[in-house]
Amino acid sequence: MISVSDALRIISEEAKPIGKENREILLCNGLVLAEDILSKDSLPPFDKSAMDGYAVRSIDTERITEENPRGFKVRGVIKAGQWCTESINLGEAYKIMTGAPIPMEADCVIEVEKVKTEGDIVYLYNEVKKDNHVIKFGEEIQPGDIVLKKGTEIRPAEIGLFASLGYKTVEIYKPPVVGLIITGDELVDIDENIGKGKIRNSNEYAITSMIRSLGLEVISYGVVKDDKAVLKKIIEEALEKTDIVITSGGASAGDYDFVETILKEIGAEIKFDSVAIKPGKPISFAVFNGKFFFSLPGNPLSAITTFEQFIEPLCNKVLGKLDCMKEDFPIILGEDFKVRKGRVKLLYVKIVKRDDKYYAYNIGSQSSNKLTTISKANGVLIVPEEYSEMNAGQTIRGRFIFK
Ligand code: AMP
Ligand code: MG
Repeated sequence: MISVSDALRIISEEAKPIGKENREILLCNGLVLAEDILSKDSLPPFDKSAMDGYAVRSIDTERITEENPRGFKVRGVIKAGQWCTESINLGEAYKIMTGAPIPMEADCVIEVEKVKTEGDIVYLYNEVKKDNHVIKFGEEIQPGDIVLKKGTEIRPAEIGLFASLGYKTVEIYKPPVVGLIITGDELVDIDENIGKGKIRNSNEYAITSMIRSLGLEVISYGVVKDDKAVLKKIIEEALEKTDIVITSGGASAGDYDFVETILKEIGAEIKFDSVAIKPGKPISFAVFNGKFFFSLPGNPLSAITTFEQFIEPLCNKVLGKLDCMKEDFPIILGEDFKVRKGRVKLLYVKIVKRDDKYYAYNIGSQSSNKLTTISKANGVLIVPEEYSEMNAGQTIRGRFIFK
């Protein structure tokens, strides 16, 4: 049995991207750039107006005041998307729309709200400074600029930026495909009759949605009976076809827990086979032919906990994220808590924010077979192994779950 921190260190050492690929930008949300994004152009590509108003020459507005307004002859209107080839002279203005190019010789824009018009004359009531409401050519981006660096997480803002720079596709770290295998003779599916001694298979649904929340594709191998030969065949197939294989159940030392034996038989390198964590001790992690393998305990709460604690950081690192570890923060206990000493305890709680501080409250039973536990919780405290009795007011680190 190894410590939680050692387990996370091993995972982080082993995990790395599985490859790169070019993808259409709209399919890149949540993925990570595997190349620097350079600009070929200047942005904006011309001096443009930031306002609807009138473009004039700033020297032409000197000494204009409220009491001393001045009239300018309006030569025409420039819409966004139009290119104005004419320049303006002293005493002249162009009506201009937001986003339209500033005509030659003009160097500022006065907003429409600050002027009055009479026929084709526009009256200004104040001086206008050079560059007023002008977005300058190349002010945001110059040709050759590295606009986004390799390793950047792609969000809608970056997708908009790709489009404005003319990128239809970008190179990203390939998202891994996850294979999910559920084991247990006792399991029936949602719409099957629950016979004697059977329970419904909930892990397949909970874990599938956790994988999908990471933006990853899941190939589900459904429920496999506790039969070593059958399970071995399916594990081999999943290791062939997917990048990360997860099994649920059959992870402990029971007579029908075959996962570890199978891993040894196929020659997988088992990196650890249990972690000092509660719930979730029998989690194991192995690597095989560049593929990653996790065996999760079958208890629903243990499966969710170990997925969140260990598999998410691995997936993030494989996706190319630089910050792959979960971030926790100080939480004040809103009441007394009691846990058993020995292992790092992931204690599910209700986190409440008050006066810019976070407080944790009990949600009742933490039994590892009860999904009702986690469904009452919105967070988890990471209680160090030596802690047992904790008092209200004490600070423990923790984090929100399912966020
Ligand atoms: P195991 O890890 O196979 O020993 O299973 C531990 C406990 O979790 C047993 O009570 C199982 O019935 C239960 N369990 C295993 N797999 C599932 C599953 N897919 N959905 C719900 N409960 C499960
Ligand atoms: Mg089982």
